[in-house]
Amino acid sequence: MHQSPPAVGTLLCLAEAAAGCRICRERPDGLPLPHEPRPIFRLSGQARVVIASQAPGHRAHVSGVPFDDPSGVRLRAWMGLSPDRFYDRERVAIVPMGFCFPGHDRNKGDLPPRPECRDAWHDRIFAAMPQAELILMIGLHAIRYHLARFGIPLARNAGMAEIVAGWRDFATTTPRLIPLPHPSWRNTAWLNRNPWFAADLLPELRAEVARLTA
Ligand code: SF4
Repeated sequence: MHQSPPAVGTLLCLAEAAAGCRICRERPDGLPLPHEPRPIFRLSGQARVVIASQAPGHRAHVSGVPFDDPSGVRLRAWMGLSPDRFYDRERVAIVPMGFCFPGHDRNKGDLPPRPECRDAWHDRIFAAMPQAELILMIGLHAIRYHLARFGIPLARNAGMAEIVAGWRDFATTTPRLIPLPHPSWRNTAWLNRNPWFAADLLPELRAEVARLTA
C-alpha cells in the first residue's frame, strides 16, 4: 500500500548535505577516514525498492557508481534487474549504512561502515522516504539497523546465516524487509552450502522487485 507522499524538499536538502559531508575527517569517532570522503548513495522520493547495503568498496569509491563491480552483477541477478532499471532512481534507491568507502583492514578486506554515518544521516533519510515498500537489508550492519528501526528484536549473537534463513519472519512488516548476505564472492561458499537461498528466497525476491519496479 502506498503511504503519504515523500517530503521531496527535505530529501533534496538531505542529499545535498550528505553529499558534502566531512564528518569522518573533521569530527570522527576515533581514527579519521584515511582518505577524502566521497559519499555514494542514491536517494529517491519515488523508488519503492531500497537497497540498504553496507558501504561502497574501493572500486565504487573511484568510479562514484554504487555496485559497479562483480558484487553488483550478482545483486542485479538476484533482483532480476537490468543495469538500466537498477540505476533508475525512480525505481531503486541505494542507501548504504556508510556512504563513504571506509578503507581496508590489515587483511585487505573492507572495514565496516563508519558509525558516524548512521548517527548523522540514516534516521532522517529514511523518515524522508516513506514511499519505500521493500527494503533489502544487505549484511549485518543494515539488518541490525533496520530491524531496530521497526522494533523487531534480534538476538545479540544472531549471525548472518541464521537471520537470512529466517527471512520469512519479516514478510509481514511494512515496508517489507528482506535480509540478504553481501553478494560478494566471499559469500560464494555460503551460497553453495545453502541451496534454499536460490531455490526459495530469490524467486520471491525477484517477484517482489518485479512488482514494485514495473
Ligand atoms: S561516511 Fe558518512 S558520516 Fe562519514 S564522511 Fe562519509 S558521509 Fe559523512
